[in-house]
Amino acid sequence: MDKGKIIILSAPSGTGKSTIIRQLMEMPDLNLGFSISATSRSPRQGEEHGREYYFISEEDFRDRVARGEFVEWEEVYAGTCYGTLLSEVERVTGSGKNLIMDIDVKGGVNVKERFGDDALSIFILPPDLDTLARRLRGRATDSEEKIAQRLAKAEYELSFADRYDRQIVNDSLPEAVSEVRNAILSFLGK
Ligand code: ADP
Ligand code: 5GP
Repeated sequence: MDKGKIIILSAPSGTGKSTIIRQLMEMPDLNLGFSISATSRSPRQGEEHGREYYFISEEDFRDRVARGEFVEWEEVYAGTCYGTLLSEVERVTGSGKNLIMDIDVKGGVNVKERFGDDALSIFILPPDLDTLARRLRGRATDSEEKIAQRLAKAEYELSFADRYDRQIVNDSLPEAVSEVRNAILSFLGK
């Protein structure tokens, strides 16, 4: 069985990445497996250990870093780490599925450098920063303080967009999903 390829999606928090990924996962011809990252943040309402993330303590996270278990990891927000476990990449690509990764801008650029032509990197852009703020508030999963932290980081994150293979604006959700789908199909040679 051929090994699966790697698809990297990055965007400022609140742009709609998870929503887009959920829809893509429902499309059998893309044959996607989600890369479940490890994080030291606590689960949001509705999130489950081993589905959205492996929720682990900061101490466990540091131990795993020391043991070299991560392909990449970042302290994305002060005091909160996220990382991709090598075991996770092997689990998904080894089963022949294409690995879809939702990772931050630095992690995305690093993984693209490491996997080269075996990876497609896509940056999802919000239509503008006001819309991004509205989406974060509308999602109602983060405190005002966390939202401010995420918005403060958005402009910095947007400066990474041109280092990705593709840039797609999430204004109309169905159009964005369709553009991302077509980019993946063309990368997979379908
Ligand atoms: P991310 O994973 O990038 O942080 P989410 O997928 O959680 O973002 O989306 C943030 C919020 O914006 C959610 O409430 C989602 O339903 C909403 N949303 C996503 N895409 C659109 C869109 N195109 N138009 C309007 N709302 C959207
Ligand atoms: P959230 O807390 O909203 O789920 O995610 C916050 C940020 O962490 C997002 O930008 C997301 O892409 C990023 N992220 C999630 N998992 C990983 C990972 O394994 N590695 C890196 N570098 N970033 C990640």
